[in-house]
Amino acid sequence: MKLKVEKETCIGCGMCTGICPSCFAFDDDSKAEVTCPEIPADLEESAEEAKNSCPVQAIVDAE
Ligand code: SF4
Repeated sequence: MKLKVEKETCIGCGMCTGICPSCFAFDDDSKAEVTCPEIPADLEESAEEAKNSCPVQAIVDAE
């Protein structure tokens, strides 16, 4: 599973970084980014929850 953040859409709310801090972090522009090139199996559930919790659907499948 690979995810990415569409930075033009991200509003920097912090939902994803709060739910799944192992795979989401803020970049220098206060936009979220995915820090796991491949989401590890044991984090897929929380990464999926983060994706589904994004209020502006900025987290999308990569590739
Ligand atoms: S939940 Fe969505 S809008 Fe909020 S920081 Fe993450 S990607 Fe950005």
